Amino acid sequence: MKIAAAGFQHETNSFAGRRTPRSEFDRPGGWPAFCRGEEMGRIMRGTGTPMAGALRVADAAGVEVVPILWCIGLPSGPVEDAAFDDIACDICRGFEAALTAGAEALYLDLHGAMAAVSWPDAEGELIRRLRKIAPAPFPIVASFDLHGNISEAMVRDLTLLDCYRTYPHTDLKDTGARTMERLIAHLDGAPAPVLAYRAVPFLVPAPEQCTFLEPTKGLLAAADALIAATPGIEEISQFFGFPLADVPDSGPAMIVQGQDPAAVEAAAEHMLNLWCRAESAFHTRRVPAAQAVAEAVALAAGPGTGPVVISDTQDNPGGGGSGDTTGMLHALLAGKAVGAVMVHIADEPASLAAHAAGLGGVVDLAIGAGLSREYGDPVPGPWTVVALGDGSFTGVGPMYRGNPIALGPVALLERDGVRVIVAPRKMQASEPGLLMHLGLVPEEQAILVLKSSVHFRGAYQDMARAIVMGVAPGCVVSDLTLLDYKLALRKPAGSTA
Ligand SMILES: [Zn+2]
Repeated sequence: MKIAAAGFQHETNSFAGRRTPRSEFDRPGGWPAFCRGEEMGRIMRGTGTPMAGALRVADAAGVEVVPILWCIGLPSGPVEDAAFDDIACDICRGFEAALTAGAEALYLDLHGAMAAVSWPDAEGELIRRLRKIAPAPFPIVASFDLHGNISEAMVRDLTLLDCYRTYPHTDLKDTGARTMERLIAHLDGAPAPVLAYRAVPFLVPAPEQCTFLEPTKGLLAAADALIAATPGIEEISQFFGFPLADVPDSGPAMIVQGQDPAAVEAAAEHMLNLWCRAESAFHTRRVPAAQAVAEAVALAAGPGTGPVVISDTQDNPGGGGSGDTTGMLHALLAGKAVGAVMVHIADEPASLAAHAAGLGGVVDLAIGAGLSREYGDPVPGPWTVVALGDGSFTGVGPMYRGNPIALGPVALLERDGVRVIVAPRKMQASEPGLLMHLGLVPEEQAILVLKSSVHFRGAYQDMARAIVMGVAPGCVVSDLTLLDYKLALRKPAGSTA
């Protein structure tokens, strides 16, 4: 048995301003660099990605995998047409070569919320092109992020699919593994499933999608119960959607898969009803930056252990933030949050200046806001260099575990008792390995400000004394009513494939 495999991921924030060029897929912070062929097979097997899970299952089953290419760009603005087209054509050429070499199926490791400038449903377009090369019933399957904005086109052209069941995402490998298991079973003779699609007629802000919290926890449990109680249903993939992609398919959707068409349709309708009834239950408390800092200072002086965590959610690089907004850092200094650590601000000149000054040196420059000046001014020094690192370490948190991470030269700077990590590149602050790389023990910090909306909870939910959701200016807007949507939610409610 021979299966071709490719990965191409991006989560597009339509409100992030800048477009995403091809170069953003070369060396994304926190993830493997662009890789192809034999090198891809070697690199990806050691990572925490869906591709790694899929390869593990294929290896165990004695299946030969033909690696095409794998790449990811960090969440940011719409992907430039040339970038999407270049990589999509690259995958198509690799797929044709794999077919010539005898591949009997294709596994795709996708996100699901990529929007190119001219292709708002970018994954749908990629899959359409692949389907043109190998018409149905040739098996083409995909695993997705649960933030995928899934279109009818994707569902129509895929043989089967799956998505993560956790947010923070801690089941990337499991999802790739499940998808590959079902693909191998299908190649071994199991019939392809019937797929029923339902789009949910509202958007859910990312902080409200956490699967530690209700109502998503209950919706996932309801799907599990339905599968257990209903013969003929194999899988219910619930996508929470990425609400900052202003595309026609933005928003939650579910795809029920199984052998009994009537049961599959009934389950899809049931789950859609549960989602619609849950709409008002999606809610989290958020406070402005100054209040978040005041609350954190008070909580840190009170009972309990572990850091008080402030989520700087509106500059979450995992949602398209530039990772260099300064609202929270200004608030920490104004609020005299001594002992706080800001993780982290992307500022290459500051990182290089810190390394030039050396340990104990002083850097007298303003930090941050290089790409996000509209959201606040840089934060002036002088800053003392407290720790330095080369920025190369291995992920230890539940999301990035095993991933080789290369941020470039990083530094820990301090002013008036407030510390900030600076690095040349952005990365979501869900990985405690960065703190440890700079000699900090995460558990021992008084206050941690993390540029992350939900993923930080994977490493910090249990460790934290308290969690405060803070709102400082940024493009990862958590109050969706403030955004001027042009395309989202234009589909009829409950749209079906
Ligand atoms: Zn996601």
